[in-house]
Amino acid sequence: MRKYANFDEPARARNLVLQGVRAVDPERNLDQVLDLHIRDGMLSVAPKEIPADADVLDLRGHIVTPGWFDLHVHLREPGGEVAETILSGCQAAMNGGFTGVACMPNTEPPLDDAGRVRWVMEKAAPLPVDLHVVAAATRGREGRQLVEMSELVELGVRAFSDDGKPIADTAVLRHALEYANMLGARIFEHADDPDLSVGGAMNEGEWSTRLGLPGIPAVSETLDVLRCILVARYAGAAVHICHVSTKESVEWIRWAKQQGIRVTAEVCPHHLLLTEERCREFDTDFKMNPPLRSEEDRQTCLKGLADGTLDAYCTDHAPHAWEAKAQEFDVAPFGVVGLETALGLAFTHLVGRHLDLKAMIERVVYAPRRILSQPLPAIATGEPANLTIIDPEGSWTVRPDEFRSKSRNTPFKGWELTGRARGIVNRGFAVIKEV
Ligand SMILES: [Zn+2]
Repeated sequence: MRKYANFDEPARARNLVLQGVRAVDPERNLDQVLDLHIRDGMLSVAPKEIPADADVLDLRGHIVTPGWFDLHVHLREPGGEVAETILSGCQAAMNGGFTGVACMPNTEPPLDDAGRVRWVMEKAAPLPVDLHVVAAATRGREGRQLVEMSELVELGVRAFSDDGKPIADTAVLRHALEYANMLGARIFEHADDPDLSVGGAMNEGEWSTRLGLPGIPAVSETLDVLRCILVARYAGAAVHICHVSTKESVEWIRWAKQQGIRVTAEVCPHHLLLTEERCREFDTDFKMNPPLRSEEDRQTCLKGLADGTLDAYCTDHAPHAWEAKAQEFDVAPFGVVGLETALGLAFTHLVGRHLDLKAMIERVVYAPRRILSQPLPAIATGEPANLTIIDPEGSWTVRPDEFRSKSRNTPFKGWELTGRARGIVNRGFAVIKEV
């Protein structure tokens, strides 16, 4: 039904039936083929009768899960609107099957006070995507003075980060952890030792030597992961590690969890599926921070995702305008887009190979919301419909010019994938693509 395929003016889910779907909700022990009726945004599971006036979409062969949530995206607004806006980023999320995203504060100016955070929240409020703002941990992301955390927590903020860089001063990190913990919020650390990685463009190793590019050593990330773990333990606080990419980071996080230290972590598709030698053609769509690592790092990250050491699967969606990426490898900005490929990559390369669907849902539906202290969406009668609709057999080719994102910088261009996001239902809206 064409009216539901509208990204610009999403249709209301007033009286809509998703017919013959496989509904999978691990928290409710549900995995069954049935109909879902959505009336004014509220769910009715396997209704006895389907109203004669309902819009019925035949979705046999599709999977419906609670809505996917991307714990780490950059929406670039304010300041970087040529690369992305809150609207285009949320449309990319909808196209990629995400009903919620957490956006990072490294905009221009950064999201480090209540006025700016409220401005972003208000911009996203009418959209079908739940937008959670991760506020800056320090003023101006300068790593010196903490932001007004309590005021921001009152606005609904549950995470603080200087993402793009670490909180390098350990005394500041300690206070950030203690204060956030007291308020029921969490620090998201971009794990890096800035002195060790300064000037680097790719992973330090044989390939960086061969290509003559300045390196970012793996130990630079691992060192900060360990620092965060030890300071979190000392402070009795929880800490979240962003975009884990090294074998030793995974191993230390696993160790910390075994010790009962409250550490959570996330991992991105590019670190699970690509390695450093992809930089050999100097294509800047393979330049991100942390960089693509070795095969051993990649394998360990896959194991970490499978066994739950790495709690969340997220994209670090980092749009950049073509002009910015069309520079020499060592000067181009870090980052790749991810919202519109993450689900297809997961179904093609992860689900059924490294983890089952239930575990994938844990990593991309539940864990991100638990980390942000948000309620978990459920496929149950009487609940608000917050759903991701997946065509698990749909084959497609990644064509960046078809993205809803304003940017095209994906390392997965041309990839053939099996499994695609068909649509989402959330906040009373339904956006479901035609085939
Ligand atoms: Zn980031």
